[in-house]
Amino acid sequence: MVRFECDTCGKLKDNGEPWILGFAAESVGVKSARREINIASGWDDAQAVDWLAVHFCSDDCRAEYTERLFSNRTIPIAGETASVKKSTAVRTRRKRA
Ligand SMILES: [Zn+2]
Repeated sequence: MVRFECDTCGKLKDNGEPWILGFAAESVGVKSARREINIASGWDDAQAVDWLAVHFCSDDCRAEYTERLFSNRTIPIAGETASVKKSTAVRTRRKRA
């Protein structure tokens, strides 16, 4: 039996719990890399075992994961050093309140 774990807090899913299922998508272009998550319309065990699938026990965990994903700019991405100006522009637009 497959047990699903929340990708944010590590909680284990119980049968029948209405968890949130998402799929990580990563597209690396010539000038930039982009990560995003597509949230599925509902939980599906068959889709949840997909290697790109991410699992959340609540919308809070979903939001936290997404926030972490988009705020983490410390991972070096191929090609990013060649577009420093563009990166700076993005960071300025996303400045913290
Ligand atoms: Zn969680």
